Amino acid sequence: MQDRDDFLKNPNVLSQYNLLQDLGVFNYIDTLKKDIRNYEAIINAAKTILNSKTIDDILESAVKEISDRFLPSFLIFLWKPLSSHKDLVFRGYRNFQTFDTSLQIEDLAPFNSFFKQYPQPISFDLLEYQLNNPSVTDPMKESKPDLVIPILGPSELYGLILVGPKLLEEQYSLQELSFLDKLMAFTSLAIQNYIHYQYSVRDGKTGLYNHGFFMVRLKEEIARAGRINQPFGLVIIDVDKFKHFNDTYGHLAGDAVLETLSQTIQKNLRSQDIPSRFGGEEFTVLLPETNRASAWVVAERLRTAAAAMNVPWEKQLPQVTISLGVALFDGSERIDPELLIQRADEALYQSKQRGRNRTTVWGAGLLHKTEQLRSSFISEQ
Ligand code: GH3
Ligand code: MG
Ligand code: MG
Repeated sequence: MQDRDDFLKNPNVLSQYNLLQDLGVFNYIDTLKKDIRNYEAIINAAKTILNSKTIDDILESAVKEISDRFLPSFLIFLWKPLSSHKDLVFRGYRNFQTFDTSLQIEDLAPFNSFFKQYPQPISFDLLEYQLNNPSVTDPMKESKPDLVIPILGPSELYGLILVGPKLLEEQYSLQELSFLDKLMAFTSLAIQNYIHYQYSVRDGKTGLYNHGFFMVRLKEEIARAGRINQPFGLVIIDVDKFKHFNDTYGHLAGDAVLETLSQTIQKNLRSQDIPSRFGGEEFTVLLPETNRASAWVVAERLRTAAAAMNVPWEKQLPQVTISLGVALFDGSERIDPELLIQRADEALYQSKQRGRNRTTVWGAGLLHKTEQLRSSFISEQ
C-alpha cells in the first residue's frame, strides 16, 4: 500500500515546503491523522463490544474500553428484563469490579417519553432540570452521575447507562465526551441486540426458553450426544388438573403458578440443563450428559419442589402438582427429535394414568402398555 505521506517526497511539494508549512497544511494533516487514529480506536472498540456474546462480556468490554482512556468513578447499566413482571436489572462497575448499586429506580416509564424525544446522552443536571420531577430523578441523584445515556430500542427505552464523574480531573473534555457518546451508542446497540436475542429465544411470560429454541437445542443435543457417545435426558412436564385450577381461581392466578413453577424448575437444575416452555402449561427440560438413573432423580427433584412451592397471590392457593415423562437418548441409537418427544410424552401419559404427581421413565414395552391403557381409558368413558 502506498504510504499516505509519499506525496511529501514529491519535488514540487519540497519546493513549496515553506509555503505549506506557513499555511499550516502540515499541522492540519497531523490533526487529521490524529482524528483518524481516534476513529480507528472507536471502530475497534465497537467491534469488540458488538462481537461480545454475553451481557457480561458486553458490559466488561465497554468498561475496559472507556477505562483505557480515562477513569469514570463508576458506570451503572440498568435495563428492563424480558418478563414485564420482573424488576429492572442493575449492573454497577467501579475499578473494573462490579458493585451493588442500591439504586431505587423502579420504572423506566418517566424517562421513556423524554428520551424518545431527545435520543442522546445528557448531563444529569440538565436531565433533572428538563424532567422537573424530583420523585423521578432523586433516586438517581444519590449515585451522583455526571451523564445519563439512553439505551433506546425501536419502540421504547430499554435502559440507561449512568456515568459517574471523572476520578482524576474535574470535567470531561469535549473529546472525551464525544468518545463516550460514540462508544456508548455502540454499547447501547450491543445491549439492544442482547435484549432482542433474548426475546427471540425466550418465552415472555416465564423467561424460560421458548419452543423454537428448545427444538433447535434438542437437534443439536442429539447430534452432540451421538458424537461423544453420551446419553442425555428429555423431561416433559405437565401441570395437573390445570384447567380446573384456572376455572376455580382464575387465569391470572394460573399465570402466577406458571411463573413460580418456571422459577422452581430453573432453581433445581444445573447450569448446563435447558428448561423451556413447550407451550401452555407444558414444559421441557434437556439434561445433557445424564443417564437414566440421574434423569429420574432430577425429575423427582422437580416434582417434589413443585408440590412444595409457594405461589405469591392475593389469597392462599392450594398446592399444585406436576406429572413428568422422561425419555433417554443412549448416545448410540439413531433417533429423530420427534420420536424422543413422543417417548417422553408417552411416559407423561403413563404418569397421568397412574394418578398424576409422578414421574415415569420411558422404556421398551411402555408403548404397548400405553396403548392398552389408552384403549381401556377410552372404553371406560
Ligand atoms: P391434566 O392433569 O390431564 O393435564 O389436566 P389439565 O386440566 O391440566 O389438562 P388440559 O390440557 O385439558 O388443560 C390445560 C389447561 O392449561 C387449559 C388452559 O386453560 C391452561 N393453560 C394453558 N396455558 C396457560 C397459560 O398461559 N396461563 C394459564 N393461566 N392457563 C393456561
Ligand atoms: Mg397439557
Ligand atoms: Mg395439564
